[in-house]
Formats: sequence, C-alpha cells, structure tokens
Amino acid sequence: MAGSVQYRRFRTLLIANRGEIACRVIRTARAMGLRTVAVYSEADRDAVHVSMADEAVLLGPARARDSYLNVERVLEAARKTGAEAIHPGYGFLSENAEFAQACADAGLVFVGPTAAMMTAMGSKSGSKLLMEKAGVPLVPGYHGEAQDDATLAAAAEKAGYPVLVKASAGGGGRGMRVVRAASELTAALESARREAKAAFGDDRMLIEKYVLNPRHIEVQVIGDSHGNLVSLFERECTLQRRHQKVIEEAPSPTLNAKQRETVCEAARKAAGAVNYVGAGTIEFVSDGKDVFFIEMNTRLQVEHPVSELIAGVDLVEWQLRVAFGEELPLKQDQIKLNGHAIEARVYAENPAKNFMPSVGRIKTWRTPEETDGLRIDAGYRQGSEVSPHYDAMLAKVIAWAPTREGAISRLNRGLEETDVRGVVTNIPFLSALVTHPDVRKNKIDTGFIERHLEKLTSVASAPSNVELAAAVAAILDQEAKAVSADAHSPWRTAGWMPVGRRKRVFVFRQGAAEHKVERHYGGGASTLTIGDHEIAFDYKPVGTGAIDLTLGDLRSHCAFVVDGREVYLRTRNGRFELHWVDPFGGDDEEQVGEDRIVAPLPGTVVALLAEEGANLEKGAAILTLEVMKMEQTLRAPFAGVLKRVKCKVGDIVQEGAELAEVEPAEA
Ligand code: ADP
Ligand code: ADP
Ligand code: MG
Repeated sequence: MAGSVQYRRFRTLLIANRGEIACRVIRTARAMGLRTVAVYSEADRDAVHVSMADEAVLLGPARARDSYLNVERVLEAARKTGAEAIHPGYGFLSENAEFAQACADAGLVFVGPTAAMMTAMGSKSGSKLLMEKAGVPLVPGYHGEAQDDATLAAAAEKAGYPVLVKASAGGGGRGMRVVRAASELTAALESARREAKAAFGDDRMLIEKYVLNPRHIEVQVIGDSHGNLVSLFERECTLQRRHQKVIEEAPSPTLNAKQRETVCEAARKAAGAVNYVGAGTIEFVSDGKDVFFIEMNTRLQVEHPVSELIAGVDLVEWQLRVAFGEELPLKQDQIKLNGHAIEARVYAENPAKNFMPSVGRIKTWRTPEETDGLRIDAGYRQGSEVSPHYDAMLAKVIAWAPTREGAISRLNRGLEETDVRGVVTNIPFLSALVTHPDVRKNKIDTGFIERHLEKLTSVASAPSNVELAAAVAAILDQEAKAVSADAHSPWRTAGWMPVGRRKRVFVFRQGAAEHKVERHYGGGASTLTIGDHEIAFDYKPVGTGAIDLTLGDLRSHCAFVVDGREVYLRTRNGRFELHWVDPFGGDDEEQVGEDRIVAPLPGTVVALLAEEGANLEKGAAILTLEVMKMEQTLRAPFAGVLKRVKCKVGDIVQEGAELAEVEPAEA
C-alpha cells in the first residue's frame, strides 16, 4: 500500500463533518490549542459548526455526495487552509478506507486507524474471520466467500431459524433482514442484496443466528501507535428502533463485574488482533447469558460521551494525542469506573407519524444549563435550518450520576427542560421512554420500543387548572413583552386596563377537547373562571419563557413557548401542548360573531383585504393585524356587507378598538 500514516504533532485540524459531532470535536481541539477548520455545504452556511471554527471552507451543494462525502473537495479544503490533519467524526467518510489512504497519500494525518486496519475490520465478514482466529465468541452463522443461494440456505439451516441476513458492508441497520423460515430466505436475500448494493455498492451477505430478545452491548477501545491498547468499559444500547440506537448507557446495568471483565477482555483481544490504533467500538449481542461479537466500528461513536463520563476521559483529546504520535495518557489499571451515564438522541422527527423526519427552521432552542451532571452536545441553535439532506439528529442530552436511578432522573429532567420548536422532535417520546417503569428496572431488550410504541407515542393527559392558567399567563406575558418595546405603552404592565372590570375569554384545544377560561381583571383583582370555579390568578415573569404562577393558594414554576397559537407548557404535571383557539374566530366554526370587528389584542394593521361596500361571505378576510409578530387575519363573522372600515394600514391599535363594521345579509 502506498504512503503510510505518520502520526505526528500538528497545529491545524480540519473536521470533515457537520452537526453535533463537528462541534464536539472543535471544542476539544480548541481547548488543546489547535486551529480548527470547518467544512460545510450550501445548506449549512449558517450552521453552528461553521461559526465555531477558526476557518471554514464551502465544499459544494447540499447533497452529501457533492459536499461532505466528496473526498477531493475535502482534501482541497485541507490544502487551502494549511490543515495538517483531518478528523472524520462519525458517518460520512469516517469508515472509508480509501479516504484514510488518500489522506495519508496527501501527507495528512487521519485521526483514526490506518486504511489497512479499517479494511480488515470494516467488513463484517472479514472482521469475523479475524475474531474467530483470535478466539472471540461469534454469533453462530456463516461469513464465508461463497455467496450462492444454496450455500447461504445450507448455512441458515445449520444455524437454525430464525436467522438474520446481513450485508457484510452494512451499517446504520441497512441491508439487514430477519428471516423466520426457510421459505422466506430467497426473497429476503434478494431485497437485502438490492438495498446493500444501492447503499454500499457491495451486496455480499452473511448469515447469523437471530438472537431472540437480545441486548446490545459494546466496548469502547482505544489504541496508540506504541502498542498500548485499553478498553474504557462497556455501553449498553439495547433501546433501539429498527436496529438503530435511541438510548445508550454506561456501564451496562445487565453485566456483573465478572461479565464486564470478560466482555472487555474479548474486546481488547478483538482490537489487538489488528494492533488497532485509534478509537473504536467492538459490538456484541447478548442473549442474557453469553455475548457474541457482531461487528467493529473503526471510529468514534455517537454514544461515546457516556463512556467519557464514567471513565473521566475526553475521548477526542485521546484521539488527537494518538494522532500526535503520543502514548495513551493512562494504562488499563489506571482507568476507573465511576458512577453511571445515560444518553438520549434528540431527533427532528415525529414519533406519532411513524418517526417521519421533520425539516424547517428552528424557532426556539432552549436547553438546560450543563450543571448537576448534565451535558448537552448540540449542533443546532435558534434560527438553524434542519435540512432534509442529512441525518436528523439535533443533539444529545447526556446525564451522569453516582447511580443508574439518579442518572435516569437527571436525564429526564434534562429532556423536560429542552424545548425545540419549529420542527417536531422526539423529546416527549424520549421522556416517556426513560421514565417507563420497565426501563428503570432494566427489563428491556432490543424489541422493547417496538412493542410499547403506542403507549410511548400517545398524547399527554388532559390539562388541569394549572396548565390552563399557565397557558393564559404565557399568552399575557408574551403580549406584554411584544409591546414593551414602546416604553410608554400602558401594556408594559400585564393586564393593565384603563377603567372598570374587564373580562377576556380564552379557549384552548387539546385533541378534540376544548377548555374555556375566563379572565376577570381590572379594579385591582385578577381571577380566572375555569368550569364553575373562580380562582385568584397572578403571575410573575422569570426571564424569558418562564413564569411563577399563582393560582389560588398554589405557587408553581412553569416554562412555556408560545408559537403562534400553539402554547407549549412544562408544568408540575409534565409537558402539554395546547392550541389557543383563534380569538378572531378563524378556526372556530361555532363562534357567533358581532357586527363590529374589534382588535382582540393590541397590534398593527398591516393589510386591508376588502373594500367598504364589498359583499362578504362568512369567513371572508377583512384585514390583517400583526400581533406579537404574528399576522392574524380578521374575518367576517357572517355573510354580509362591509359597511365601514375604521382603520388604515400602519395604525397601531389597542385591544378592543373597533376596526370595521359588517352588516348582516338579509336572511
Ligand atoms: P452508531 O450510531 O452506533 O454510532 P451507526 O453506524 O448507526 O453507528 O451510525 C453512526 C451515526 O452516524 C448514525 O447514528 C447517524 O447519526 C450518523 N450518520 C450515518 N450516516 C450519516 C450520513 N450519511 N450523514 C450524517 N450522519 C450520518
Ligand atoms: P449496523 O452495522 O447496522 O450497526 P449491526 O450488525 O451492528 O449492524 O446490528 C445492528 C443491530 O441489530 C444490533 O445492535 C442488534 O440490535 C441487532 N442485531 C444484530 N445482529 C443480531 C443478531 N444476530 N441477533 C439479534 N439481533 C441482532
Ligand atoms: Mg452496529
């Protein structure tokens, strides 16, 4: 093989990736005094990783093939910026041996193993041959050269159904089929080959016994170029959906100390078989008794933070030290396991709609402070665009505590305090998952999510008085802040009204149920009427998006996001999403209108949509108000004639101001 890698000290590192992993690598590289170079596609001009790096180079169009996966462009970016090393992150080029070799040939340090090691371990079949020789236990099955159907059928028969057909070059759960009986084998092979050919350009298959209700256990290893190789304990990633990890934790709550040592030793043996250099993961499935090798990932993994937290190690720092040609900072017996860590992957996807990815601009991005054992690895922020071109993972919420129980509680709190709006996320699903009693008790297997899908994705319980009152307070707070730019505005004080006692009605919808709340105010007192009860009501804003609510004799802290007419709440009772039924009547068929069109909120007239004298259908648009930076269209409450328009474009109007008059059509 041409040009071998020279691990050596360097000053400038290019990160050939995007999103959270690019940000994660830049953070450590900078802390180590390195210059960082980001690369990006046209879709990522405003991405977080671009602004974090010292320099950034545009690679090309959004499509990964034209940008992040384009070896020539990445190498050109390194040349242009004087980068001496490339960190590939995960995904994209991270397991591409040709890329590792191209880096070496260009005189660049590839932060990872050599191309030869990658080739040896990159194919699932090849790595199994090596593991077999090294005495690492394998799932019973076939990983030979011959690929004809008869050979594969005989192998499946020998392993015993059900079996798993897997693409040797596979990754990300693709090219994999469960086969329950011999009669299904031919069809499964055909479709797996097709998928593998398209995804990896390689349709070789292997057969494994399908372990029933297994657990996924994997070991983090890292080696240096001086022959040192250590393991950093194991992770358990059993909570999966379609063979993709959702929640990962370390150490495995399933193994005892002796089993832990056994699996870690097997992993070191596996990596040792190729004198592995760099960070890698040895993956196993377990039937509850034994563990069986399934594959090695020759890169840093998404879930590496949980290992970092229990071992007190920065794996990116270690990767970079290894790339410098240094020895690993610690020997095996100096690495100590401390506490428990757990991670949840936050995706822009809709669990209620079969986890369909969600794209768009992020309007609200709120994450908790990284204290009390919480860590947030994110690649997005307010204003970021979630593009359909890439993996939809937005961030990882990671928690550490002395015990598993404590770590789960902290993770749940971290998830509850994470608010992302503008795209749909899986956060409520993750919360439901980590608080499920069976998860707390570790009564899980890789099929757990699929079996409990309905419950994990079902909508929240009905709002109580606290949520309804919090929703009213959230809207009032939002309105007060929207007009507070005008220092003289009387609206600066929430609920201020010139005279007398006033009433305002709010209607909230959740699913099919509607909830009506009347607010009475003015004259010094403020109450809410919910159902038959009139309750004292007050609130104090606490920064942005949070209030201290007083309802009767209860004082409670609530967080909220008001996005147009969607009100998202986090209260003592959990997460709620309420739809604020349009106060203009636009989305409430039942509402009986008055003939006077009044401004239900303070705002600015931005458009007049009908002329005086016009004949209006019921619901016809009359004018548009901008309220709280949102446009709201006022409509005819019934069919009639627009008798008068009493405002003009640009008018700033107060709540209750009469804007137009409609005369009902003759019956
Ligand atoms: P693991 O999730 O265990 O690290 P996988 O092989 O499942 O290993 O994939 C690694 C991760 O890389 C995926 O979870 C995904 O978030 C990311 N990934 C995979 N393919 C791409 C891609 N084409 N673009 C961006 N990210 C990707
Ligand atoms: P990928 O390259 O897509 O990560 P893996 O071989 O690591 O493929 O398998 C992905 C997941 O599929 C595992 O984490 C595990 O949940 C499941 N799996 C893999 N092999 C088996 C097996 N032999 N029996 C049961 N489940 C398996
Ligand atoms: Mg895997």
